[in-house]
Amino acid sequence: MNQLEKLKKLKKEKNAIILAHYYQNADVQDVADYVGDSYYLSEVGRDSDADIIVYCGVKFMAESAKILSPKKKVLFPVHGDATCCMEHQATPGLVLEMKKNHPNAKVITYINSSSEVKAVSDACCTSSSALKIVENIDAAEIIFVPDQNLASYVAEQTDKKIIPFDGQCNVHHKVTLENIKKLIEEHGDIEILAHPECQKEIRDVSTYVGSTAGILNYAKTSPNKELIVVTEKGIHHQLKKDSPEKSFYFPYMVCSPMKRVFIESIIDALEDEKCEVIMDEELIKKAKVSLLNMHKYAGG
Ligand code: SF4
Repeated sequence: MNQLEKLKKLKKEKNAIILAHYYQNADVQDVADYVGDSYYLSEVGRDSDADIIVYCGVKFMAESAKILSPKKKVLFPVHGDATCCMEHQATPGLVLEMKKNHPNAKVITYINSSSEVKAVSDACCTSSSALKIVENIDAAEIIFVPDQNLASYVAEQTDKKIIPFDGQCNVHHKVTLENIKKLIEEHGDIEILAHPECQKEIRDVSTYVGSTAGILNYAKTSPNKELIVVTEKGIHHQLKKDSPEKSFYFPYMVCSPMKRVFIESIIDALEDEKCEVIMDEELIKKAKVSLLNMHKYAGG
């Protein structure tokens, strides 16, 4: 029996599903039952009747799946440390200090954060749902944690006062205008699609700014055959699946924590039901409120 047959058999025997983020290795995306951005995957995990969720992504995603489905077994088959850099930037103490300085503000936390930070937040958001949640939550002032670029992107589109935390994604934030100009020199003045975690100078020269799902949708429907894409390179796999005839050009953008799941590690974890996400019940209860509010305010 080859690896893929083995995986298929294991999934059936254990009533398991595999969820993978668009930034995962291409072969992992190919064996997943659902591939998507963190918002979509959070809904799939929550609504699934599987007994086991194998989460291929980074730690905050697997923990979010566990928080939303505490009765399911969530396996996180990674090699080494697979945390998003933003999980380490905001801490509950720093968030509570901001809250003390802005007592009328509500805290909206990007899902790319630790469960402990989620536990002291009013609502979570993803890049695709951030604006909707800011508009729908009942507060005129919002403390936005931890991504300063997503915060400024949202602030440009709302009348509410956005108080940003000083965090950022190391992969998106480091892309400069120079990097983009170089791509334009090489490939011509073509459409640029960027993730809102990019700095303002990148967003300002982009034709489209949106989540990974939004970028994929835009790229699929664009009449253009060549596009510059400013987000993590793993998305290239889905872009090419959707539009094999198109060419996509990227600045160097690789999120190494996202590349720590392999087919072998998935099989290994499923066979012995190991790499399980174990969380404190009290933490689950507290962090769940902000994740449920994310779905409530985003209408999901
Ligand atoms: S690309 Fe950035 S935001 Fe996404 S998981 Fe990696 S470090 Fe976190």
